[in-house]
Amino acid sequence: MSRTNTHKPLHPTQEMDPVAPAIEVRGLHKSFGDKKVLTGIDFHVDHGQVVCVIGPSGSGKSTLLRCVNRLEEPTSGQVLIEGIDITDPETELDRVRSRIGMVFQGFNLFSHLDVMENLVLAQRKVLGRSKEDARKVAQANLDRVGLGERGQAMPSQLSGGQQQRVAIARALSMEPDMMLFDEPTSALDPELVGDVLGVMRELAAEGMTMMVVTHEMGFAREVGDKLVFMADGVIVEEGDPATVLADPQHKRTKDFLSRVL
Ligand code: ADP
Ligand code: MG
Repeated sequence: MSRTNTHKPLHPTQEMDPVAPAIEVRGLHKSFGDKKVLTGIDFHVDHGQVVCVIGPSGSGKSTLLRCVNRLEEPTSGQVLIEGIDITDPETELDRVRSRIGMVFQGFNLFSHLDVMENLVLAQRKVLGRSKEDARKVAQANLDRVGLGERGQAMPSQLSGGQQQRVAIARALSMEPDMMLFDEPTSALDPELVGDVLGVMRELAAEGMTMMVVTHEMGFAREVGDKLVFMADGVIVEEGDPATVLADPQHKRTKDFLSRVL
């Protein structure tokens, strides 16, 4: 199944740039009214990289992630996805957004649809896939997250960890180039966290580009290629995860890590 055939052609001036980073954020500011939430964020995620983002509650992590796929509109600055500026009004936002999978803390499944229907819906609506093709892709992704037998289950019949794995399978069914995760395990009972992290670990090993807001420092250390520490709307420090965790350079990072590690 060819992904390119199911999409409209790119805007002629907006060809994807194969050497550009997967995600590049330049001088990003975001305010809500008078409240400055992001005050100058610059960073990038290379293809195949896993970048983990940590920081205190309220530091702007979710807002940053939401600006990356324009669920929030940046106040100023640029967000480039594979070289395409999604803050440019000319950009076909849906086209770019369809390359980005997003998984939230809450699982956001449609409670009145069974698991299979949850996975089929957006493939049909957004990608225009036939029911048969959509079901095949859905089944393959349910298998991938270890829930191949649960297609007929309703979300309420599943544990939180299973629901989150369904949400990941749903995002993967859109065959995205990259995945954004916003605290995907924070709402789960501790014994269910491991299965979800296991799926994310496999995705990373398969080369998926990932940006992960998380409090799971073990995951950040072992799976992350880069760790970003945010506080008060800025990146305080970033670097190799093991190095940042073992030897933070800034007082704010040290204070935060001393509270969570
Ligand atoms: P984090 O994910 O790091 O906990 P958020 O990005 O959710 O932080 O929030 C950062 C700040 O922005 C918080 O003070 C929050 O209250 C504020 N904020 C987030 N979204 C909105 C919104 N839609 N309207 C007003 N304030 C918001
Ligand atoms: Mg958040």
